[in-house]
Amino acid sequence: MQRYLFSAIIVTALLTGACSARGSEVPKNMPPLEDPRIARAVTALGTLPPAVAANIEATLRAEPVRFFSLLDAALAESESKGDLFVLVDKKHALPRGYEPGDLVSLNTYPLATTRKDLRLRTAVMDAVMEMQAAAMADGVRLVFASSYRSYEYQDGLFKRYVASHGEAEASRFSARPGTSQHQLGTAVDFDPIDDAFAATKAGAWMSANGWRFGFSLSFPAGMEHVTGYIWESWHYRYITKPGALLEKDYFGGVQQYFFEFLDACRKITG
Ligand SMILES: [Zn+2]
Repeated sequence: MQRYLFSAIIVTALLTGACSARGSEVPKNMPPLEDPRIARAVTALGTLPPAVAANIEATLRAEPVRFFSLLDAALAESESKGDLFVLVDKKHALPRGYEPGDLVSLNTYPLATTRKDLRLRTAVMDAVMEMQAAAMADGVRLVFASSYRSYEYQDGLFKRYVASHGEAEASRFSARPGTSQHQLGTAVDFDPIDDAFAATKAGAWMSANGWRFGFSLSFPAGMEHVTGYIWESWHYRYITKPGALLEKDYFGGVQQYFFEFLDACRKITG
């Protein structure tokens, strides 16, 4: 199962180039003067709600060189580190046996944690440590409270939430096994894992600065109809620095739209 997933990731990572600057073929049904990169990106945007897609397209057309430069840099980092842009949400699950091959204990780094069994992918640790140092320099203490979670761990967690809150309510703030970003090993929860985090110094600092280090707020306020989850001010996913900048400046800071766009790009072979 794991080998199959890695093969799938490699194939999809290559296909993601469909929306990057590297392809140069002009689709037969496109006007000859339309930049093929823009045409493909606009096609991929067509999978998003029309008003959202129109806004992103207008921003893209205003600064296409910057858009594709950021996209290419983000895709290059993702390909070199092992796919960082896997779409995992309520409709896209990871295989049960999926576990990243480069997990490392946070205990081996000078990081504040609430427990001793936290692990993340080695591929994101440079960014984590750079962010941690910047926060410290600003007098802010980041405390890591959750990180990689296996399928089985998430299964137990979701069942406990269902028992205490009921299934409908539990699914608003907890993922079913296989659909959690935590299984990727690139997502973190900061302490405290509740709404109080937003009002802490760390919460305000992450909200203002997380993107500078490639970390994106996965479930923003007021976006439950898009992400499937309530506002989780404490939950961030690493999406590379250029990826976070792209998401902030072109996708309205909505990670779900950015990932759905990337997923659509992967399905375009023209
Ligand atoms: Zn989380």
